[in-house]
Amino acid sequence: MDCENKKPLESIDMEAPEFKDFAKSMVDYIANYLENIRDRPVLPSVTPGYLRPLIPENAPDKPENWTDVMADIERVIMPGVTHWHSPRFHAYFPTANSYPAIVADMLSGAIACIGFTWIASPACTELEVVMLDWLGKMIGLPEEFLACSGGKAGGVIQGTASEATLVALLGAKAKTIQRVKAEHPDWDDNTIVSKLIAYSSNQAHSSVERAGLLGGVRMRSLKADDNLQLRGETLEEAIKKDLDEGLIPFYAVATLGTTNTCAFDRLDELGPVGNRHNVWIHVDAAYAGSAFICPEYRPLMKGIETADSFNFNPHKWMLVNFDCSAMWLKDPNWVVNAFNVDPLYLKHDQQGSAPDYRHWQIPLGRRFRALKLWFVLRLYGVENLQTHIRRHIGFANQFEESCKKDERFEIFSKVQMGLVCFRLKGANEISEALLKRINGRGKIHLVPSKVNDTYFLRMAVCSRFTRPEDMDISWNEVSEAATEVLKEQKK
Ligand SMILES: *Cc1c(COP(=O)(O)O)cnc(C)c1O
Repeated sequence: MDCENKKPLESIDMEAPEFKDFAKSMVDYIANYLENIRDRPVLPSVTPGYLRPLIPENAPDKPENWTDVMADIERVIMPGVTHWHSPRFHAYFPTANSYPAIVADMLSGAIACIGFTWIASPACTELEVVMLDWLGKMIGLPEEFLACSGGKAGGVIQGTASEATLVALLGAKAKTIQRVKAEHPDWDDNTIVSKLIAYSSNQAHSSVERAGLLGGVRMRSLKADDNLQLRGETLEEAIKKDLDEGLIPFYAVATLGTTNTCAFDRLDELGPVGNRHNVWIHVDAAYAGSAFICPEYRPLMKGIETADSFNFNPHKWMLVNFDCSAMWLKDPNWVVNAFNVDPLYLKHDQQGSAPDYRHWQIPLGRRFRALKLWFVLRLYGVENLQTHIRRHIGFANQFEESCKKDERFEIFSKVQMGLVCFRLKGANEISEALLKRINGRGKIHLVPSKVNDTYFLRMAVCSRFTRPEDMDISWNEVSEAATEVLKEQKK
């Protein structure tokens, strides 16, 4: 026999001792990065294409040392990072970041299962079922959304709110097609789909319109009232008009905490209208939903019992790193049946006794994301998470007060959560110049929005490291930039 075959396999992997050194070094790096993030410029100053010249043109043929990779983080990556967790970052909405969630992601990476069915990794499915019950109870969701109620209801972790909106739309579509077919056995699917019509507020997130496009149905954008809330009578009128024209209303999205101004649609009015007309009510509370862990904010979700599905992003404001979007369905069977394909290689003996989450979502694969929730909920506790929410809202109120004391500024919309919408009094161009000036100075970062032709700036409280002094720094920066802009206007 050829003795060459008996040679041990040459190792191609990183070995455990090296992994331990590498990972420990990374943990040190992460802690230093986050604890000192305040000192880095929040926005990078690089220009497009900055990165390619910094690294070789081709992947290395031979393995490198991990220490070389570590050294390149500051050289190659950090100059091009926007520091979302800096207290100077006030753009968009927050995205979550916490040590317990980071550690949970390490474990998820180690187990690296794909939990599409119960048998594919029972802990992955079962922890998710229980965590969604914990979380649902924390925000005061009615029993009929929870798996522990013993019915068919329950929660699932989607990747994003956008997916949740689409999944709910597809469930509503399947439900309506079945109902209409029973009434009109001679209508085919295409005829029915061509008559379907969905609704949302003109303040809804762009992902809602996109769900309509992806779902192949028409979506009507309804006018929000003067407080930027969608009202029940507006939905009722639209539904009646569409019914008169032979269309089939089937789905409406209520937004709790809009992206533009954090306005809350009147779910207490929209829900009963939807229920009366067989219109599936989906609640998109992507950002503000986290605030419902504080009982004092739950009046903003009044009418929740009338919804068919509810979604919010712990990955925005509840310290669970992206991605973790929590969705509950009163009757998941509409979604499960809407996308049910059942090849033999995915079947198993315990089907039906626990959810096979592959039916609840668009992709097949799914990570063990419930670990992040479990770690965060246990290592913060509900009380500290409530403190986090209340602090952020307090910081927004602090900034709002500074704004109100300065007669050059006006508040654009009511401050209810960790978002302040404000502008310089006068024409839009002055506030546009202000935003340009602020972002040009590079000390803090904001984004604008425009509603009903009025341009304003959005100051979102984003970082868990924020302290009252940071809010003063941000306000002073806004105020100084305003002084510069107004001086130039006078010239
Ligand atoms: C952020 C946001 C979304 C989109 O969230 P993803 O999880 O990124 O899809 C949807 N709706 C509202 C109201 C949002 O604020």
